[in-house]
Amino acid sequence: MQQYLLESLYELQSHLSHSRLFYQVVDNDGDPHWQQIELDEVEQEGFQPLTHKMPQSSAKGFFFAEQEPLYVFDGQFFRETLPKPDPFVLFGVLSCDLMAIHYQDIFFEQDPYYQARRQQGLLVGIDCVQPCKEGFCYLVNAGPGVRDETADLILHPLTDGRWLLVAITALGKESIHGLTLTPASAHEISLRWDNLSHCEQQFEDHSYISEGINKLNADLIPPSFWQQVGVQCLGCSGCTTLCPTCSCYGTHSQPIGASESKAIQNNKAGQDNQASQHVRFWDSCLYEGFQREASFHNPAEQAGERVKRFWYHKFSDDFLPEFGRYGCVGCGRCERACPGVIGVHSIMRRIVDDA
Ligand code: SF4
Ligand code: SF4
Repeated sequence: MQQYLLESLYELQSHLSHSRLFYQVVDNDGDPHWQQIELDEVEQEGFQPLTHKMPQSSAKGFFFAEQEPLYVFDGQFFRETLPKPDPFVLFGVLSCDLMAIHYQDIFFEQDPYYQARRQQGLLVGIDCVQPCKEGFCYLVNAGPGVRDETADLILHPLTDGRWLLVAITALGKESIHGLTLTPASAHEISLRWDNLSHCEQQFEDHSYISEGINKLNADLIPPSFWQQVGVQCLGCSGCTTLCPTCSCYGTHSQPIGASESKAIQNNKAGQDNQASQHVRFWDSCLYEGFQREASFHNPAEQAGERVKRFWYHKFSDDFLPEFGRYGCVGCGRCERACPGVIGVHSIMRRIVDDA
């Protein structure tokens, strides 16, 4: 591990953007979101990363595409559609979202579509030095400091606009090769741990979440509780769409439109509209039909069953052997997204008080 002191981020941003597409969270209109920033913009303005503003959408879509073709059938042959992305950098990923990518890396370990994107991505994490609203990363081992196993480079804000830069992986070290960097002093390195410790102490009391998790794993929640809560689920998929660890997907075949058919070279069948593609898309375990079987038997016909299933996937000890952690990274997005008021804080309070 190598640690450096940066007087500003400008040179690092500029350097990385010369060799990779450069993405960063921007907040021009009070709506923090990931955006590609062009090289000349980086050079002119030296964009600063946002330290405490969580983008509404996490970074999962960079690797697990919201919708993508798995293959194309041109009427005669099957054609591969593996993505071939250019190298890119996600600059300033929060610790919770990085832990979610780490979780998805395990889930999609054998998935060539995910891996084709993942292997082109350089992850630059950023430590949080203030708790965010509704966040509880510290409780689920996902923050506020970036965990070493989740990032290539880590940035930590010091005072006066200076930064500590920690190079973790071989890719991270290679990515800063050529920059003139000043090694950080022992004092600057220790400041990081002081700041993170201080940040952890600033979080509100979330002991009801620990209590709720214990109750869930002790199987102390009656079916009637889930039935009551299920009434509040609108099946909108807001939670699963925004949750950075949710990875359920569906697939279906669809005909390729006329314009896409033309792209299939010299293919008469395509022109006759027999061409089709098999598409993968984000699905949601909160949808009524998600678990419906070919026989039309549905093991989760009731909304309460589906809500229960969602929360067991996030907090059941049963998944610890496979992932080494819970399926929740404490970002709080589901609390903000859920119109039925059954996001993580609401559900855990009710489990503790009512179940
Ligand atoms: S369950 Fe909610 S708090 Fe946990 S990672 Fe998903 S969106 Fe974030
Ligand atoms: S739990 Fe909330 S956010 Fe999720 S599908 Fe149901 S209503 Fe929508």
